[in-house]
Amino acid sequence: MPGLPIVGVDVPDPSVSQTATQPRPPWLRVKAPGGGRTGELRALLAERRLHTVCSSAACPNMGDCWAAGTATFMILGNECTRACRFCDVKTAPLPAAVDLDEPERLAEAAVLMGLKHVVITSVARDDLDDGGARHFARCLRAVRARLPTATLEVLTPDFLGSEDSIAVVLDALLEGGRAAVFNHNVETSERLTPKIRSGAVYRRSLLVLQTAKRLRPEVKTKTGVMLGLGETDDEVLQTIKDARAHDVDILTLGQYLRPSSWNHEVMRYVPPQQFDEFAAFARGLGFHHVESGPLVRSSYHAERGVGG
Ligand code: SF4
Repeated sequence: MPGLPIVGVDVPDPSVSQTATQPRPPWLRVKAPGGGRTGELRALLAERRLHTVCSSAACPNMGDCWAAGTATFMILGNECTRACRFCDVKTAPLPAAVDLDEPERLAEAAVLMGLKHVVITSVARDDLDDGGARHFARCLRAVRARLPTATLEVLTPDFLGSEDSIAVVLDALLEGGRAAVFNHNVETSERLTPKIRSGAVYRRSLLVLQTAKRLRPEVKTKTGVMLGLGETDDEVLQTIKDARAHDVDILTLGQYLRPSSWNHEVMRYVPPQQFDEFAAFARGLGFHHVESGPLVRSSYHAERGVGG
């Protein structure tokens, strides 16, 4: 992709293995979880048998977020019907039945944590007829009932592209008229999607986002991309362009880190200044909000994207 404002970029050849076997660069060293409100959060989440993507996905920001009293709830269990190569969540073809008390426990935890912006994600549940959409809606309504002024954000699976499921989530998300964010991550470039995301289709993910915006234009749509899975810089730029072309408002770009030896290798460590270059490119395309940096995750400082 010629003429783009990315400077000092070392474009990797995707045909050449560039496994990042070297130690993590200094910008990826983070403090271990602990301190601040971490103990309190651990206890209140454990008592209510709630899962978070923070611990299930071994997020590097737990030291920061949990100390500050923030976490991202993961509903519908902690077993996923898919087996994406970047993800640390366990796989099961038939996870446990939907826990109908979970919405109340989640809402209670959100109150005790004092959250002003509540982020809810889930495992993929391709075993359910609605992909878990109705349970998302139940959780959103339970939170809304107890925290009427909080803003809400969901990070959903693709629901196999079902417009009905997307609509069910959007209806609950936007009840009460507060600003809200509908996030679905494309995760990686089109070329790498079949290798990295089991059961996913790049174009379908883009259509999920575009459908959400078409159904409820007032919702902020959001997507995230991980760098370091073997994508080229041109592919990063194309993915950013594709997201904008599908009416995505908010973009997150972060460094992929390998959670276990089963997971895909880290192919490169992208330096912070290069994340800045990608962010500048995205802003130039008109995204409402961009978070871009090695430690950025979908829900990192998520409250920053919701306003405006
Ligand atoms: S960035 Fe998101 S997933 Fe990671 S610890 Fe913070 S809230 Fe949890």
